[in-house]
Amino acid sequence: MLIQSKVRGFICTTAHPSGCAQHVLEQIQYVKSQPAITGGPKKVLIIGGSTGYGLASRIVTAFGAQAQTIGVFFERPAQGNRTASPGWYNTAAFEKEAAAAGLYAKSINGDGFSDEIKQQTLELIEKDWGGGVDLLIYSLASPRRIHPQTGVLFQSVLKPIGEQPYTNKTIDVTTGAVSTVTIETATAKEIEDTVAVMGGEDWMMWIDALREKNLLADGIQTLAYSYIGPKLTDPIYTKGTIGQAKKHLAATSKLIQEKLKPMGGNAYVAINKALVTQASAAIPVVPLYISLIYKIMKAQGIHEGCIEQMYRLYKHCLYRTDQKVALDASGLIRIDDWELAEAVQKEVEVLWEQVDSANVEQRTDLAGYRHDFYKLFGFEVAGIDYTKDSVIEVAIPSING
Ligand code: NAD
Repeated sequence: MLIQSKVRGFICTTAHPSGCAQHVLEQIQYVKSQPAITGGPKKVLIIGGSTGYGLASRIVTAFGAQAQTIGVFFERPAQGNRTASPGWYNTAAFEKEAAAAGLYAKSINGDGFSDEIKQQTLELIEKDWGGGVDLLIYSLASPRRIHPQTGVLFQSVLKPIGEQPYTNKTIDVTTGAVSTVTIETATAKEIEDTVAVMGGEDWMMWIDALREKNLLADGIQTLAYSYIGPKLTDPIYTKGTIGQAKKHLAATSKLIQEKLKPMGGNAYVAINKALVTQASAAIPVVPLYISLIYKIMKAQGIHEGCIEQMYRLYKHCLYRTDQKVALDASGLIRIDDWELAEAVQKEVEVLWEQVDSANVEQRTDLAGYRHDFYKLFGFEVAGIDYTKDSVIEVAIPSING
C-alpha cells in the first residue's frame, strides 16, 4: 500500500518501512565512516533501544565496537492497514544489517517496566551470553508506567513546579505558528508520578535482576541519559516535573555505583543534547528551542544528531584510549557541551526575544526540525520513492527470543 505521513499533534501515526530502514542505514554508515571504538563493550543490553538515543547507542556499540547487542523496547507491529511503529521498522533493519555484518543482535518487545519482560530478557542473556552483560544502557522514555509490584499506573506530566504557572513562547510545528503557552504547576501527586515513571527505580530494578542471576560481567558499565539545558527551559525541564525525575535518576546512579563497585563496575548519567525525538517533541516550548539551536549550531558547524552524539559519547567519553572516563565536577558525562557553549546560548537569548510567527522560518531552522521529525517516522528520507507501494508487515527475525 501507499504510505503517507499522518501527523496528529506531536506524533505521526504512520511510519514508512523503507524510510526507517534507510535512516538506520545512514546511521550505520556514519559509524562505519568513523574510527573504530577500541577497548569497547562486547555484550550490550539497551533498554529503549529502538528509536532516538537508544537506537543510536545500539548502532554505535554494534558497528563501532563490534559488540553483540540485545535491545528491549515497546513497539507495535503492523496490524491490518495500520503500519508498525517506527521503532519496529528500525529494529527489523538493524537486525538485518547486523546479521549481514556477522554481529549478534536480538530483540525483546514488550513493557520493560514489567517483571515478565525482565524475566524474558534474563533468560535470553543466560542462554546466549554466559559471562553476562558488560554495558547496560538505560534509554527508556515513556509517558506511563505500571509498577510491577503494586500494579499501580503512573502517568508522567511535563509541568513546572512551584507557585507560579510558566508562560513562554511555543510553536505549532505543523503550521509554524508561534504563540504563548501557559502551563499550570504540577500537583504533588503529579511530581511523584513523574518520578515513578522517569526516575531511576526501574533502572535499579534491571541492575538488581541481572545481579541476582549473576549476569553482570566484571567491570560492568551502565549509563542512563538525561538533559540539563539552558535557563530558558529550566522551568519546564530541569526545575519541572521531568527534572525531579532526572534528579532521582542521578541519585540512583550513585546507589548503583555502590552496588557495582565490588565488581569493578561503574554507573554514569550522560547529559545529552536536545534533539528531535518522539519523546522531546511532546515537551512544550522545547521544539521552538530545538529549532533555534539547530539554526545556530548548523551555522557554527557544530550540529550533531543522535548518532553523532552517541558516537562522541562512547568513543571520546566512555571508552577513551587513556581509559579515563570524561566527567564534569558533578561526576556527569557532558555531551551537551556544544549546545551550552556561550557562543550558542548568547545567540539563543537574542533570537528567542525576536522570534514570532512571521519570522520563524528565517530566525530558526524550523525546516530542519520538521525534516528530522518526519525522518523519525521514515518520511523525507533521501533515496526513497514514496510513490511506490510498500509492504507494511515486516518481521524482526529474533523477536522475543
Ligand atoms: P525515544 O522516544 O526516541 O525512545 C524511547 C525508547 O523507549 C524507545 O525505544 C521505546 O520503544 C522505549 N520504550 C518506551 N516505553 C517503554 C516500555 N514501557 N518498555 C520498554 N521500552 C519502552 O526517546 P529519546 O529522546 O531517545 O529518549 C531516551 C532518553 O534520552 C530519555 O531518558 C530522555 O530523557 C533522554 N534525553 C533525550 C533528549 C532529547 O532531546 N531527545 C536529550 C537528553 C536526554
